[in-house]
Amino acid sequence: MDSSSGNRIVFGVDTITQLPAELARISGKRVLIVCTPVQSDQAEALRLLIDGNVVSVFSNAAMHTPVDVTTEAMRIVEEQQVDSIVAIGGGSTTGLSKAIAYRTGLPQIVIPTTYAGSEMTPILGQTDNGVKTTLRDEMVLPEVVIYDVRLTLTLPPAISGTSGINAIAHAVESLYAKDKSADTSAKAIEGISRLSRALPIIARDPQSIDARTDALHGASLCGQCLAMVGMALHHKLCHTLGGSFDLPHAETHTALLPHATAYNAAAAPQAMQQVADALGVASAPSGLYELGHAVKAKMALRDLGLQESDLNCAADLAVQDPYWNPRPIECDAIRELLQRAWAGDPPQA
Ligand code: NAD
Repeated sequence: MDSSSGNRIVFGVDTITQLPAELARISGKRVLIVCTPVQSDQAEALRLLIDGNVVSVFSNAAMHTPVDVTTEAMRIVEEQQVDSIVAIGGGSTTGLSKAIAYRTGLPQIVIPTTYAGSEMTPILGQTDNGVKTTLRDEMVLPEVVIYDVRLTLTLPPAISGTSGINAIAHAVESLYAKDKSADTSAKAIEGISRLSRALPIIARDPQSIDARTDALHGASLCGQCLAMVGMALHHKLCHTLGGSFDLPHAETHTALLPHATAYNAAAAPQAMQQVADALGVASAPSGLYELGHAVKAKMALRDLGLQESDLNCAADLAVQDPYWNPRPIECDAIRELLQRAWAGDPPQA
């Protein structure tokens, strides 16, 4: 698989066996492995694979890359004279790896096990005292990404569905981005198509190697879209709800995407047709709403912990410092969009 992001990609089934060779390429001899607590077994398996080159395993990675967690990991990096990072996990783990690379310049090998796509981007979001800020720096782009389909088989079906729709969200917004290109649009269409085909199969049969292969390949393409073009209203809404109301990342993307897409439908007809064709449906917003239901995702923000009394504040925050968007940001319409997403109603184009 090619990468437009400029990093090296290894893709396939059981590709993890190539980790020792990839580590040698970046001259990694004092490796820090990072993961979340849930994936410490997978991290220990990596330690065995690159035995003798691992100085420590840090298993406290957490959602939204809290700076205090990074500080804790940095102590090990300094004390153990770490010379490279191996990260196994989703966007939370990749975020920690990038945060260390940002502070040290250390090379990274990232082994993604969700569909978030962070491994393909030079973007780092970090949270300090409850405030999330995002930066873009080539220093944080992982040097090597090893996609091993087999390592995604343990991703629970519920997380697989929302994580895959999180990836689709990158592609949808790239199709109406003002800096889109023929390359990004082709990647977006293929990414949406692969993921929308694979996710309902994974919901029924999480062990399907074919569907998992399609989903991981699609996620990589969608991650490259995120890296190459600017995101719009949908990502702004998700950042607002995630950052200010602590809503879960991929689930929030899944519940909001049909509504943000509907908001932009009339202003971006070509993109809507491309999304609908890639999904194999007549209407992009309805197709995304149905896909959410097909993977049994919670499609109401109220079921993700948002209170109805928070909606006015969320709408006010969402319209501040807006990202570029194909349709102008209209406060009343955004408030209405949030009400529908909160209730889990179908999108209204
Ligand atoms: P996550 O990394 O938090 O993973 C969700 C849970 O699933 C975690 O507990 C994880 O350990 C577990 N998990 C992952 N893979 C597994 C597997 N194969 N088997 C069993 N359990 C597994 O969630 P995410 O949605 O991947 O990442 C969200 C974070 O990534 C957010 O902080 C978001 O802001 C960030 N993100 C950043 C970018 C970027 O470009 N900077 C892009 C997308 C997401």
